[in-house]
Amino acid sequence: MKVTEHIKQSKGKTQFSFEILPPLKGQNIQTIFENIDPLMEFKPPFIDVTYHREEYIYKELPNGLLEKQVVRKRPGTVGICAAIQNKYKVDAIPHILCGGFDKEDTENFLIDLHFLGIDNVVALRGDAVKSETYFTAEPNGHAYAVDLVKQIDAMNHGQYLDDSIENTATTDFCVGVAGYPEKHMEAPSLESDIHFLKKKVEAGASYVVTQMFFDNQKYFAFVDKCRKAGIEVPIIPGLKPMATAKQLNLIPHRFHVDLPEPLIKEVIKCRDNKQVRQVGIEWCIAQSNELVEHGVPFLHYYSMGKSDNIYTIAKEIF
Ligand code: FAD
Repeated sequence: MKVTEHIKQSKGKTQFSFEILPPLKGQNIQTIFENIDPLMEFKPPFIDVTYHREEYIYKELPNGLLEKQVVRKRPGTVGICAAIQNKYKVDAIPHILCGGFDKEDTENFLIDLHFLGIDNVVALRGDAVKSETYFTAEPNGHAYAVDLVKQIDAMNHGQYLDDSIENTATTDFCVGVAGYPEKHMEAPSLESDIHFLKKKVEAGASYVVTQMFFDNQKYFAFVDKCRKAGIEVPIIPGLKPMATAKQLNLIPHRFHVDLPEPLIKEVIKCRDNKQVRQVGIEWCIAQSNELVEHGVPFLHYYSMGKSDNIYTIAKEIF
């Protein structure tokens, strides 16, 4: 079922959902199930599965030439989605990227999803690969998420890349896109970012999921600005509980979001990461309660591969 239908059916009640990461190459799907199992108590209508590009290093050969080698990969987004739908009978939502895909790869990926009965996707540009400063699209790929949304929307209208194909099956994907309450790092302003977010919605996106934030006022202000800009689709808040002291630097650096001063002070006071985890849980519970009071359609948690803290938070809220 589509995310938008789940929202309609809930009649204003906030629902629980979360995102998981595929395990690193060579690891077992069992660890994923062990993380998902306890969270099923809170009846998530959907579970997101992220997509990760390969990461490369360039290794110098004896002849002086450089060889591109894949060093890290989290494969299995599609397989994990199929396994989740089969095991838990809930919707699994794969993330799909512009990065690393040309249009043909994208079409084939979407055909596989369609065959598997997956009818939601989150369409993203992806970040630049680690060895590059700026994002580069594949030859014959998409430079922005809006172009990916347009390709998905075209397939939803039965238009495939090869327009000589006859009797094409019409897909019916419900498309989610990313939104940034504290603006995307490359956007010159929040207004410009919202301008391009609106383009994604006009191209066919049916809902927005936000980047994590730790100050609800940032989310409320963002939703307000989006509404004023004419974006009317649901805007699902994404939440991540702080879990280690290292994240004080890592989260602002990697995700370009600010941490509120009171949260920083609490984390600095902690003697070990067990205490930080507890601070993170309490902060996230307070955020979640306020968002529920505000009537958000979903609370969408970033589990980052470990679910014990999400379980504790959800137990308080749902
Ligand atoms: P876009 O919407 O394309 O925007 C990128 C930037 O370009 C923005 O600054 C925007 O303002 C600007 N822009 C957009 N369109 C135009 C245009 N036509 N002309 C000029 N400027 C434009 N990454 C992964 O690798 N895997 C994942 O699974 C994943 N999941 C995510 C889930 C969520 C909810 C979020 C918030 C992010 C996720 N990311 C993931 C990270 C995401 O890929 C990066 O943040 C990426 O840098 C931007 O993706 P986007 O889809 O927002 O890009």
